[in-house]
Amino acid sequence: MTRQEQSITNRPAESAFSPIHSALAQIYRQYRDNLSGQVASYIPELAKANPALFGIALATPDGEIYQVGDAGHLFTIQSISKPFVYALALEDHGIDLVLSKIGVEPSGEAFNSIIFDERTNRPFNPMVNAGAIATTALIKGANHEQRRARLLEKFSNLCGRPIKIDRAVYESERSTGHRNRAIGFLELSAGMIAEPIDEHLDLYFEQCSILVSARDLAVIAATLANNGINPLTGVRALEARYIKNVFSVMQSCGMYDYSGEWSYRIGMPAKSGVSGGIIAALPGQLGIGSFSPLLDGQGNSCRSIQVCQEISQRFKLHMFDIRPPTAVTVRRAFRGDKIGSKLLRSKAEQTILTRQGRAICIYPLQGHLSFAPMERVLRQMSSDLDAVSYLILDFRRVLEIDDCALTLLGQLRGALAAQGKKLILAHLPPSDSAYLQHRSPAPWDEDSIFADSDAALEWCETELIAATNTALPRSSEPLPLAAIEIVAGLDAEELVLLESIVVKRHYGAREKIIREGDSAESLFLLAAGSVSVYLNLPNGAHGKRLSSLSPGLAFGELSLLDGRRRSADVVADRAVVCYVLSIDRLDRLAVDHPEIKHKLILNIARELATRLRHADAEIRTLAD
Ligand code: GLN
Repeated sequence: MTRQEQSITNRPAESAFSPIHSALAQIYRQYRDNLSGQVASYIPELAKANPALFGIALATPDGEIYQVGDAGHLFTIQSISKPFVYALALEDHGIDLVLSKIGVEPSGEAFNSIIFDERTNRPFNPMVNAGAIATTALIKGANHEQRRARLLEKFSNLCGRPIKIDRAVYESERSTGHRNRAIGFLELSAGMIAEPIDEHLDLYFEQCSILVSARDLAVIAATLANNGINPLTGVRALEARYIKNVFSVMQSCGMYDYSGEWSYRIGMPAKSGVSGGIIAALPGQLGIGSFSPLLDGQGNSCRSIQVCQEISQRFKLHMFDIRPPTAVTVRRAFRGDKIGSKLLRSKAEQTILTRQGRAICIYPLQGHLSFAPMERVLRQMSSDLDAVSYLILDFRRVLEIDDCALTLLGQLRGALAAQGKKLILAHLPPSDSAYLQHRSPAPWDEDSIFADSDAALEWCETELIAATNTALPRSSEPLPLAAIEIVAGLDAEELVLLESIVVKRHYGAREKIIREGDSAESLFLLAAGSVSVYLNLPNGAHGKRLSSLSPGLAFGELSLLDGRRRSADVVADRAVVCYVLSIDRLDRLAVDHPEIKHKLILNIARELATRLRHADAEIRTLAD
């Protein structure tokens, strides 16, 4: 296979469809023939590298990989190992100890410089050899084998595949790495690192000799961009809390004495190695791996720099290319008089909600909630506060809530409570709810965090009704037949007749009262408890809750109109009492008393008309 043929080695179909792949292929062609620079020669094995090799790979934080050229060719990782061994040292010892041993200041010197920060008696940073050797010296393990195994495991997790050491390169560097040895011994003599120095150096030479491809580098970078979780395997390869520290040293020191210009032109945290690799990543966006062994005077791969610059410009990836925070965080604000929960309520209760529902405000939020978007949420809420008693924040479309936003939410809750208003959160990711519920000193109570916004809205409605009209019956005593809404207008005699043909039935919690598909023989008048209507999904899964009903309402009433089969399941939410009216018996009663059936049908029609109007109004609210 020629290199050109190899250049589209990924999934052949991809090039036809993916503008990302075409862009990489274009960049590859643009720089393929640029053979300026030198192959590293100070490690004899590296001098054998084929200067024509050139591969580019890009990986996304959700695991898609685009690659062109020799992206599968294996080479030794060299200095690109440094940020990740640094991560392991942080995981082993924490920030304070690691910082006390190795600084984080750019040295402005070459990668192999033998200069230390004399003020603090530390190597300047972990990205130059002196700092990297001191970092490797920190890696824990009972002996050399264990320490090597831990390093290899870290890199296998980062690549998402078992990795190996290139023994030839290792031997070559071990036998010629006098300068690195000198650095190590100077550090030993200055007390920067402790024995066993030969073991530390061997381990350092081994970490540099790990075999990777440009594709592996892209996956490692995407793992960084994905906050430490390898997108191919789902395995956490790096502890999340140190990712920002790793990014920081890559950003300030990753490209040696070219770090400033790299940052200026390309603007992505990166790391290069003398075998010709460069890794670059942007949190949440992508990871890049590029490989071309021809190096510039600073020891960075010439073509890989060009590739990264091109990718950064084309895809606008400079970290200071300002991305405005999601323009819309608060998608809408709804009031409880226009939007109701799925609980159908008696007329009296519904009337209260229509009149007073404005006291409930629901905010569906979206995007990432960090400082700036959260500030906007707070601002919008404070401008709506008049006459609002319940504020529901719906997080269903929120992708992430950071610590700052969570803290601000806690403060908002306190400020609202001081004004007698209640803040309620719905659809919060489980880890965030758990955090808030166990937070001290002010843990959130159960009435403040709801699994979904409908439950939150229902709770607020019930509170509002209770607060507005204490005269409404709130007992769990079954309503008399006369209090059922579709019976309105029947005179005393008609009521007695109707009473004589209904059967009072009790159902236990979760008992199925109506089953979808059954023939419809009776209608149900709910006297106590509540029931929910569920629509079964085609795959047989237990379906979606369409609505719930309170006492005084009828269900299964459509059958009286059209006689067709049941269109949904109705299940008792808790203990339920119903008056069950057999359609057969009603028809027989109607022979001598047709007006009873007429009145019932008229009431049902009125009730349906009201619900339809409500539904229309809600659709209008949601649509405008
Ligand atoms: N193994 C190489 C060395 O220590 C790593 C240097 C590099 O990649 N810049 O010299």
